[in-house]
Amino acid sequence: MEKTSAVPPLFPHLPKRLEGLEDLAENLWWSWNPGARMLFKTLDRKAWKESGHNPDKMLREFPSEGLEKACANPDYLRMYDEVMAEFYDYMQAKECHLLDSALLDKKYAVAYFSAEYGLHRSLPLYAGGLGFLAGDFIKECSDLCVPLVAVGFMYPEGYFRQQIRDDGWQENLVEPINREAAPISKVMNKDGQQLVVKVPLTDPPIHVAVWKVAVGRVPLYLMDTDIEINDPWNRSISARLYTGDLEQRLRQEIVLGIGGAEVLKALGIDHYLLHLNEGHAAFALLERIRTKVASGKDFKTAAKENITTTIFTTHTPVPAGHDIFPFQMIEKYFHSYWPDLGLDRDTFFQLGVHPEKPEAGFNMTAFALRLSGSRNAVSKRHAEVSQKMWHSLWPDVAEDKVPIEYVTNGVHTPTWIEPKMKLLLDKHIGTDWLDRHDDPTIWQGIDKIPDIELLQTHHWLKVKLIDAIRERTRQRWGNGDASASIMLTGGAFLDPWALTIGFARRFATYKRALLIFQDLDRLKKLLKDRWRPIQIIFAGKAHPADDPGKRLLQNLINLARDPQLGGRIAFVEDYGEQLAQYLVHGVDIWLNNPLPPFEACGTSGMKAALNGVPHLSILDGWWGEGFNGKNGWGIEHDDNLSNPDGSDADKIYNILEQDIIPRYYNLSENGIPNEWIRLMKETIKSSAAGFSARRMVKQYIEKFYSKSMKGA
Ligand SMILES: *Cc1c(COP(=O)(O)O)cnc(C)c1O
Repeated sequence: MEKTSAVPPLFPHLPKRLEGLEDLAENLWWSWNPGARMLFKTLDRKAWKESGHNPDKMLREFPSEGLEKACANPDYLRMYDEVMAEFYDYMQAKECHLLDSALLDKKYAVAYFSAEYGLHRSLPLYAGGLGFLAGDFIKECSDLCVPLVAVGFMYPEGYFRQQIRDDGWQENLVEPINREAAPISKVMNKDGQQLVVKVPLTDPPIHVAVWKVAVGRVPLYLMDTDIEINDPWNRSISARLYTGDLEQRLRQEIVLGIGGAEVLKALGIDHYLLHLNEGHAAFALLERIRTKVASGKDFKTAAKENITTTIFTTHTPVPAGHDIFPFQMIEKYFHSYWPDLGLDRDTFFQLGVHPEKPEAGFNMTAFALRLSGSRNAVSKRHAEVSQKMWHSLWPDVAEDKVPIEYVTNGVHTPTWIEPKMKLLLDKHIGTDWLDRHDDPTIWQGIDKIPDIELLQTHHWLKVKLIDAIRERTRQRWGNGDASASIMLTGGAFLDPWALTIGFARRFATYKRALLIFQDLDRLKKLLKDRWRPIQIIFAGKAHPADDPGKRLLQNLINLARDPQLGGRIAFVEDYGEQLAQYLVHGVDIWLNNPLPPFEACGTSGMKAALNGVPHLSILDGWWGEGFNGKNGWGIEHDDNLSNPDGSDADKIYNILEQDIIPRYYNLSENGIPNEWIRLMKETIKSSAAGFSARRMVKQYIEKFYSKSMKGA
């Protein structure tokens, strides 16, 4: 196996017989393989929990006696040998014959750039959906042996932790990441020091230290500006995700794109394709062009050559989601750069101008769209919206011919299938289903699962969810810094027998978290029904700079604590990967009611559907493709009505009253809600293959990667 460098053992107290645990702890492969997680968990359940499910941290602190004990336990050793064999086979890529040979010939064919990665709770380098998409994408690239290297940021402060004050206002707690205990390792230079790279162009210079995360076979390199050689302003560039300070944000994007390209150079990684996950990293394009210009080509030729090997994925139709920098700011940082490209000031600015708003500034999305040969949106609807949004860049073609294609997002199945659910599938649809999970026909086998078994498994997951929420609340109560009313809204009243709706996502206003409260009386009736109640669990963070989002959240907390709603509304603090896992596995319905057309895709509903949780959603994003009339509910939004919000809410109440509640609570003679179970099965059958990251990555390969490689 490739080792980044000759470093001393991380865990000197590991017995020789178990030395493989170090390799395992240092590769996130463990995070999507239940057997590997079990190896750590069975060492010591409590230590596992206290480490935050982080093998690296756990092993560091774990006493030798515990390890010796495991060494003397034949059951443990058997499990260890099995998992290690599987891991080493995986790393040697024994099964890699799925792909185009043009791709496989290269060590690294693709360089993937993203500002955030959602991989696991122990590595909080994400804010939301974009990050999870990137994380799931590179995990699947690893599974499919795509020769890809990923680049991103090490944010020492991560994203913030959310805590709700007694008055319902969101507090943002900063909890610095302990780099030593995170599942990341230093990339060393030949002198045995951590590799530090100087970002070209910047004055005073910005340096980045380089970390590596092994994501199965895919290396993810993270840049960290928080090192002594940088001045304080430069040190804080990578402090946290999506800073509200525009100039600092531009500097982040310079580091991500230009610094990232430099890091790959320093590592000697020669990649052929550049894949930009959203516009934040688009300056990476310039570095590729600059290299060509330096070898004697003019800008036009260099850009044209470059275009065929660049893929840009746009992720949002929300205008505020596209970075626009004032021209003076761009001038400040790039005036010494554009001569290297053979450009003058105005031609450089033109690269980032939005034709409809030329005065607005340098638009990173317009820039990336212009200079990338393959462009895609992340769902069919999003492609239509993007074609409309960017028509002015291609004024000579009809709107539906604007060259923005789509690859609908998908989720990494091994990451999001709940282990108990996986066992149920292993038992009834065959143990090899995971190897072929993007084949829709294997999912037909779901019908073979006895209703009672699916019901019991799901109920167990629901109890686990509610238990986890109450435990969090209890912990916070124990800290003594929260009022009783915050504890009640935090989930103390949750009931594992009530029909449970989940709503968890960022508190951006277009997501309309309060839509279901439009008609309070009607909702109250449903919540307070003595025999057939519903309860709703909310979670999600508002962006630290988004005051309207925070007010929305505050209103929700106030509604939740209103005794008239019967304690059936809960808001769970600090939505993140772990809570998302519990929620998408354990609720009965996943609700999504954004204002169209702003949901580019959405992926949390796919995670729920994979685990048999039906989707009640506005027909926007992926649901436009996912809804088939019998696997949940699709609501067509009509903007022309006098009260579109009220009308959407009405439709939701109607569906709840007339279909969801009766179906959920109607038991057949055998005491099982067979009609409901049928719906759960239909949900899995219709979504699991088509909305998997495997289907998604294969489409990227077919549509873009292979094509670009051949055009080489
Ligand atoms: C999947 C996921 C998201 C993205 O889900 P959306 O449907 O796009 O809101 C955000 N946060 C977490 C923690 C997730 O797991």
